[in-house]
Amino acid sequence: MAYSDSTRQVYSDEIAAIKEKGLFKEKRFICSPQAAEIEVEYPEGAACEKVLNFCANNYLGLSSHPEVIKSAHAGLDARGYGMSSVRFICGTQDVHRELQDKVSAFLATEDTLLFPSCMDANAGVFEAVLGKKDVIIPDKLIHASLIDGIRLCRAERDIFEHMDMKHLRKKLELHRDKRRRLIVTDGVFSMDGDLCPLDEMCDLADEFDAMVLVDDSHATGFIGKTGRGVHEHFGVMDRVDIITTTFGKALGGASGGCVSGRSELVELCRQKARPYLFSNSLSPVIVSATISVIDLLSRTTERRDKLESNTTRFREGMKKVGLSIREGVTPIVPVMLYNAKLANDMARDMYAEGIYVIGFFFPVVPEGQARIRVQLSAAHENEHIDKCVAAFKKVGNKYGVLGLDKKGIIEKYGT
Ligand SMILES: *Cc1c(COP(=O)(O)O)cnc(C)c1O
Repeated sequence: MAYSDSTRQVYSDEIAAIKEKGLFKEKRFICSPQAAEIEVEYPEGAACEKVLNFCANNYLGLSSHPEVIKSAHAGLDARGYGMSSVRFICGTQDVHRELQDKVSAFLATEDTLLFPSCMDANAGVFEAVLGKKDVIIPDKLIHASLIDGIRLCRAERDIFEHMDMKHLRKKLELHRDKRRRLIVTDGVFSMDGDLCPLDEMCDLADEFDAMVLVDDSHATGFIGKTGRGVHEHFGVMDRVDIITTTFGKALGGASGGCVSGRSELVELCRQKARPYLFSNSLSPVIVSATISVIDLLSRTTERRDKLESNTTRFREGMKKVGLSIREGVTPIVPVMLYNAKLANDMARDMYAEGIYVIGFFFPVVPEGQARIRVQLSAAHENEHIDKCVAAFKKVGNKYGVLGLDKKGIIEKYGT
């Protein structure tokens, strides 16, 4: 027997060790639609309880918005449930084209290609447009899916330090002789909530004849004055060559992603990107709903405006309470705790206060950087935010971390 008792023992010991360290990821089941207030079964087998959700990527509160649900139903009725085909065989409907055109108009790009997810977009794009004579120069902290996509491509890879433009300049100088240079970054970094300096990157790209790819998954729909993304925020909408992004976060939150940008690059993805060629087409249900999301966001900035004021309210509240949050302007607010067990324990106590948040620790963030990551949503009301801040005050007080800076917390708890 291949899976022998001793093999089983090895694996169960590993799981036991994770539990012993207090790092075990427990199961939680949501028994309601995704919204500001959700019902959660936790621990497994417990009765469902109402809590406020502060850890979803539901930035604009569209995951169960009535207009989105209506469009999903309409898409189901009009074009059916599934395509049973990849895009290039018989998996492209008129609605797929319509969504692509709407995304291009929304992001102000030349063309767009849908993928089953942004992970797939990132897996396909590099190999499609670059080869072994080229170099990819990524920020050190880019998303895992970009790292994997870069691994699948034969171009050389040379990392620059996180958001360090001097270092990026050095790398560009070093690779002057390469056929092509591609700078790669997240628009908003999901663990820290910081914005990449995209304007400076575009200047460097001009100077060194490089291209720029930004993954705007944590920005599309709400960063920038009209929510177009980080390129709008920095006034460089016509200077980014490739944007990859997801429909699985702010834009309704179901699934799907895209590559959007220069028409030749998008065309090459259509010809060559492997997840486009070998993975199934996005369901018409999701396509229709996402079209309605883009329409809604093109009509009004009401939701991104509310998200912005919610973010300000929360950040100011947390500073007053004396918890050490990472400065910034995005709705991703890391409450820094450095110690993994502390982050896990505090998150559990927050749950008892009716606030659903999660501790993040290695390998999701670097070792010694444990935190509770809070994410705001336009679906939150003032009283939700105030309740969350009050719960942090109570729990932070219990663990004696109010008013402590990084040094203070590490002295008390270690990393
Ligand atoms: C979430 C995320 C992805 C993955 O998006 P999916 O559509 O869920 O595959 C890719 N890149 C970044 C930066 C993300 O935050």
